Amino acid sequence: MSAEEQKPKQELIVRGIAASQGISYGQIFVYIQTIIEVPVYEVEKDKRPAEIARLEQALMVTRQQIQKIMSEVEKNLGPDEARIFDAHLLVLEDQALITETVRELEKTGTNIETCFNRIAQRYIKAFEEIDDEYLRERGCDIRDVAQRVLNNLLGRTGQNLGRLVEKRIVVANDISPSDAAGIDSSQALGIVTDSGSKTSHAVIVARSMKIPAVVGLRDFTTKVEPGDWVIVDGYEGLVILNPREATLFRYGQIQRQKKSYEQRLFEANRLPAVTLDGVKLTLRANIEKVDEVALVREYHAEGVGLFRTEFLYLGAPDAPTEEQQYAAYRELAEALAPAPVVIRTLDLGGDKPAQSQAHLFPKENNPFLGYRAIRFCLDQPDLFKQQLRAILRASAHGNVHLMYPMISGRDELARANAVLDECKAELGAEKVAFNKDIRVGSMIEIPSAAMTADLLARDCDFFSIGTNDLIQYLIAIDRVNDRIAHLYEPTHPAVLRTLRHVVVEAHRAKIKVSVCGEMAGDPTFTALLFGLGVDELSMTPPLLPAAKNILRNMKMSDARALAQMAMAMSSPKDINALCERFVSERLKA
Ligand code: PEP
Ligand code: MG
Repeated sequence: MSAEEQKPKQELIVRGIAASQGISYGQIFVYIQTIIEVPVYEVEKDKRPAEIARLEQALMVTRQQIQKIMSEVEKNLGPDEARIFDAHLLVLEDQALITETVRELEKTGTNIETCFNRIAQRYIKAFEEIDDEYLRERGCDIRDVAQRVLNNLLGRTGQNLGRLVEKRIVVANDISPSDAAGIDSSQALGIVTDSGSKTSHAVIVARSMKIPAVVGLRDFTTKVEPGDWVIVDGYEGLVILNPREATLFRYGQIQRQKKSYEQRLFEANRLPAVTLDGVKLTLRANIEKVDEVALVREYHAEGVGLFRTEFLYLGAPDAPTEEQQYAAYRELAEALAPAPVVIRTLDLGGDKPAQSQAHLFPKENNPFLGYRAIRFCLDQPDLFKQQLRAILRASAHGNVHLMYPMISGRDELARANAVLDECKAELGAEKVAFNKDIRVGSMIEIPSAAMTADLLARDCDFFSIGTNDLIQYLIAIDRVNDRIAHLYEPTHPAVLRTLRHVVVEAHRAKIKVSVCGEMAGDPTFTALLFGLGVDELSMTPPLLPAAKNILRNMKMSDARALAQMAMAMSSPKDINALCERFVSERLKA
């Protein structure tokens, strides 16, 4: 770590939620969406040509910035995502916008920022009032581009994570999942947010990109100034603003130790997932994008236990077509065959609204209890069928399993399966290949589904427990609310009893149970979950080595005893401490 540019400011240590492991140090980039205030002043007649030249210069710089973002997005996310910015470049070429701005300058004699802003706002309003979704979207493009042009005219740094062109720690009040998906992991050294929790989707994305993150810091953005430096300690959930020399030195040492430990774990991760008493366990990967298949291999996951398909929609201007989805699912299935790939149908809504589907999601008071996932899909059968057909078609090219999110009971599962049968019949009639015996499972993430696991098991080939949502609904803790994040307790007896109940019912019906929520990737709970009888764990690939390390250092008989002991206890904190002790006793040698 270098402290060359550090100013002699007071060190401040703030505790938040450790959301993504790792330590980083760097200068901050503050990301807060604000309304740009445009100063208004008069410009004398002879200075007006210079104003026009300023506008031309700002347009040129904006074009270069957008092109740079495009090439970075293309590199990180692919050409389809990069094409979002084509529309932005078109706005810059809009002659009417430029001519009218110049006319406004000549007419009113006010500064060029004001003229440009007035004309842009007029355009935005006109587009917003049009009763056509496509044209309203163009209004959004103009707003985005106008903000960039204004920022350039005013000499300000714009607010867009896609334009993070230098290595920085992102300090934000909030980051949406699509903001996170647009982050260039080679430029974002760390992420620090006022809001959020361990299971918010933006954090899950950060974890898969191995970006250290601390969230739930409440008002941290009000404490920083541009140019400040911070250490992000994603292990302990600490953020150190303007660290002293001694702190930097200490963190330099911690970072080196952690790195060498992680390197050892990474190397040992090649070994099979077998316990000391010879029981073979299964660890799979959670992924959000097809190109993460490289991580699945690098971290030796036995296939994909959860592919969150909604990320094909997030950040894209249009919903992916059946063909685009088929191509993505097929690529994944072929790349990993014969290992299984569990493709989960769309889970939009909640904290994952999609730009292209925004018109279908009205504002709700309780989005997590609202129009989301399978409820949305059953209400939008065309969109649902498009995805089911794409998954079925991909099943001809590998070991594809299909899974529904947010199933609440047997009728809902039956409705989803009826649509699936319809798709199978259509493909059959069209003579399109698909695996007729595709395995179909349900996520168990709503208490009503857990309680009726015996009924669901009759029509499922497997279960996957989504603890992120299951815990949120079981103990009524909004998973993205930082104020109550400390009450989100995976070791609550209600959680353990529910997990055990689902396992027992699944095994009675002779089907397997996986856990794919964030609890599965927390090494504190590896033994507990396997001890409770869970068959498989699925997690963000970088978390796999720690889980493998624990199971290779434990006996399955001890894990079962641990789970039995935990089930007999009443305090979440005591159960957590018991699990921590189990791990530390086995890893200290
Ligand atoms: C879960 O709820 O645990 C889960 C894996 O689904 P998601 O995090 O995508 O809601
Ligand atoms: Mg979920």
